[in-house]
Amino acid sequence: MADPILPGATLGVLGSGQLGRMFAIAARRMGYRVHVLSPDDDTPTGQVADVEINAAYDDLDAIRGFVQNVDVVTFEFENVPAAAAELAAEHVPVRPAGRILYITQNRRREKTFLREHGFPTAPFEVVDSLEALRAAVLRLGPPAVAKTAGFGYDGKGQYVLQKPEDAEAAWAALNSTDLVVEGFVDFRCELSVVVARSLDGQTVTYGPMRNDHRNHILDVSVAPADVEKHVAAEAREMATALADTFDLVGVMCVELFLTGDGRLLVNEIAPRPHNSGHLTIDAHVTCQFEQQVRAICGLQLGSARQHTPAAMANLLGDLWQQGPPGWDRVARFAEVKLHLYGKREALPGRKMGHLTALGPSAEAAEALVRQAREQLLNPVSTR
Ligand code: AMP
Repeated sequence: MADPILPGATLGVLGSGQLGRMFAIAARRMGYRVHVLSPDDDTPTGQVADVEINAAYDDLDAIRGFVQNVDVVTFEFENVPAAAAELAAEHVPVRPAGRILYITQNRRREKTFLREHGFPTAPFEVVDSLEALRAAVLRLGPPAVAKTAGFGYDGKGQYVLQKPEDAEAAWAALNSTDLVVEGFVDFRCELSVVVARSLDGQTVTYGPMRNDHRNHILDVSVAPADVEKHVAAEAREMATALADTFDLVGVMCVELFLTGDGRLLVNEIAPRPHNSGHLTIDAHVTCQFEQQVRAICGLQLGSARQHTPAAMANLLGDLWQQGPPGWDRVARFAEVKLHLYGKREALPGRKMGHLTALGPSAEAAEALVRQAREQLLNPVSTR
């Protein structure tokens, strides 16, 4: 097996958002250097990296220069063009491999991969015309959910069709000939498992977490999820089997629906640390970001043991509408941790940070994190 990449080496990250930032913090804590490349500057990752390169992902000259100064490349953003990952791989290890990126950056490829490898999903069809969309909605629903195959996240590029006549409006709104249509799942709850896999195939899992979404964006994650033991075990087994199937080296999140009759369906895969795993920073022996560092460097993984029940609440840009939130109010909660990502502009729906609460039970942690975030909703002047 290849020699491990040891502290002192330089890790390259493609993408510069909060996932890269928390990865870079973990890497620097362990004594690695971090270089980041993205089309922006003064980014969440760039602010904590050693070197920030501002270039487009399809600027292959810039990618070539970037990889010459790093020992391994990873990414925090799955929509990096395949050509960039392929070019990088000619010079240094790219972990996870570009092939995983290629499959997971497109819903059609991802769902087809899942079906071909026997992983349960919501019933779905690939659609390339209005007529096909109408027919698929009749077969799969209604209701049904149409999703653009490429570049969708946080519910963007989705349309819920309540009746077949909604097909015209959905077709116009999504404006794409590459769609996936799914039957609407009347789920009991949404779950996720984060799995890390090392170069030699060792795996550890976190969760399942229970995830609540608001406007299609993750709102609150709770761990451990309040589900039967056998459901939790099955979710972890499924995530591990997927990581093995992909021959993953790195961290991956598997988002699942738990149906009313107790079945688990894979909704989406993210080949990187995930928002629902942010609570691992404060509640687990080794967080998802340190596992990403360990995995891509060819080290053994750390313990994924959860030491305290926890809940995470996202802080979206909407909280800034009446000015900067009163952070001193969350500081009054001794068991709540504040994480802010250093983004300059607070736009509605934009993930600006999160809170993690620890508690004697998952239920108590959830109540606490909601209560702490509630404090930020009131304008500072009413203190
Ligand atoms: P996605 O971008 O596919 O993760 O979808 C975002 C959110 O939309 C999910 O977390 C669900 O809350 C909801 N959603 C997506 N697909 C379906 C479906 N087939 N049935 C019911 N809800 C869905």
